[in-house]
Amino acid sequence: MNVDRITEKLNILADAAKYDVSCASSGSKRENKNKGLGNASNGICHTYTEDGRCVSLLKILFTNVCIYDCAYCVSRKSNDIKRAAFTVQEVVDLTINFYRRNYIEGLFLSSGIFKDADYTMERLVQVAKKLRLEHNFNGYIHLKSIPGASDELMREAGLYADRLSINLEMPTEEGLKLLAPEKNRQDMIDPMGFLKNEIILRTEEKKLFKKAPMFAPAGQSTQVIIGATPETDQQILQMSDQFYRDFKLKRVYYSGYVPVLSDNRLPALNTAVPMVRENRLYQADWLMRFYHFKVNEIVNQDNPLLDLDIDPKLSWALRNLQEFPIDINKADLRMILRVPGIGVQSAQKIVAARQFRKLNWDHLKNLGIAVNRARYFITCNSPQHERRDLTGTAIKQYILAESQSKYIKNSTTQLNLF
Ligand code: SF4
Repeated sequence: MNVDRITEKLNILADAAKYDVSCASSGSKRENKNKGLGNASNGICHTYTEDGRCVSLLKILFTNVCIYDCAYCVSRKSNDIKRAAFTVQEVVDLTINFYRRNYIEGLFLSSGIFKDADYTMERLVQVAKKLRLEHNFNGYIHLKSIPGASDELMREAGLYADRLSINLEMPTEEGLKLLAPEKNRQDMIDPMGFLKNEIILRTEEKKLFKKAPMFAPAGQSTQVIIGATPETDQQILQMSDQFYRDFKLKRVYYSGYVPVLSDNRLPALNTAVPMVRENRLYQADWLMRFYHFKVNEIVNQDNPLLDLDIDPKLSWALRNLQEFPIDINKADLRMILRVPGIGVQSAQKIVAARQFRKLNWDHLKNLGIAVNRARYFITCNSPQHERRDLTGTAIKQYILAESQSKYIKNSTTQLNLF
C-alpha cells in the first residue's frame, strides 16, 4: 500500500465528506458473531468536529469526482479542486485498520457520481459486502445511496449496510431545479419508496424466519440543505412530515448551507452558516416525532419561520397561553408533554409518580423538570413559584433573561479538543 498516496486521498475525501451531517449512528443492533470484528449497538458514541459535526465514523467519500454540477456542492464538476478516488480495497483496508486501532466504530460512505449512478453504487455496495463477508465486520455501516441506482443494487446494499440514506438535497423541487437542474427529484424519491417496501417486507420475513437476513436494520434517512434556497421553515417541516409518513424515514437531517462557492444563485460567500436555524429545525422535528405536535401547530401561514430566540415548544406555548396553566396532578400526558421544560421521560415519570402522591415543586425538581421554564405553565400542590397574568412577551423576557444570566454564570473557558 502506498501510504502517502492513501493519506493524500484520505485528506481530500474526508474533507469533502464533512458537509454531509447525516452520520448519526444510533438505531442498529448488530451483534458480534463468529468472533468477528466490531459490534454495532445503540450505544455507539459520537465525537464532533470543531464546527459541531459528528465524526464518530470513518466518514469519507469514495470519490469526489462527479459528473454533476450542483451549485451548492464543493465536488461539483466545474469546481477547480484536487480530485481523488479510492479503490474498493482501499476503503475496506482503511476501515479495518481504523477500527482495530479504536479510531472509529463504523463507516459512513458517500460518493460523487462517476460514470453513472449504478457504476458508483456498485462500488459502495462492494465495500460493504467485502467488510461483512470477507472480514466478518459487525461494525456500523451507513451507505449513502446514489439517486437513480437500480433496485437490484439497493436491495443488495440493504443486506450489508445498517442504514441507507438518499439525500433530497433541497427541501423543494423548485429549489433543486434552481441549483441542480440536471438532477431529478423523482430519482431520489423512487429508491426511498423501494427501500420502504423492502424494509417492511424483510421485517415481516424476519418475524417468520429467524434466520432470514437483516435488511437495513437502522432504516433509511435523508438530508436537506437549508438556507441555500429561500424555503420557509413551514415548507421545510411540511416536507419532512410528508417524508416521515410516506417513507417511514428514521431521520431527516438539516444541514445549514456552508457557503463555499461563489454563484449568483447562492447566498454570498460571507453569509454565516445558519446554525441556530438548523438547531431550531431539529427541535421542531423532535416535537413532531416524539411530542405529537402537528406541523401546523409549530409553523403555519401566520408564523412560517421558527423563532430563533427560543425553542419551538416554548414558542408554541407562548402563542397558546389560553391552554395554560395546567394542573400537573390532573392533566393528561399529551398536555404535560407540551409544557416547556418537561421532556418525554420526565412527563412519563410525572404520570407514574402522581399515582402515589400529589406532586409539588420539590417533587418536580427531583423528577428533572426545568422548573424555571415550566413554572409559567403549570400549577401543582404548592402555590410557590406561581406567576399568573403575565403576557407571552413578559414570560419570554423572563425566561431569556434567566437563561442568559445562567449562561454567563456557567461560562468557563471552552476546552479546545481539536
Ligand atoms: S451529485 Fe452529489 S457529489 Fe455530485 S455535484 Fe451533486 S451533490 Fe455534489
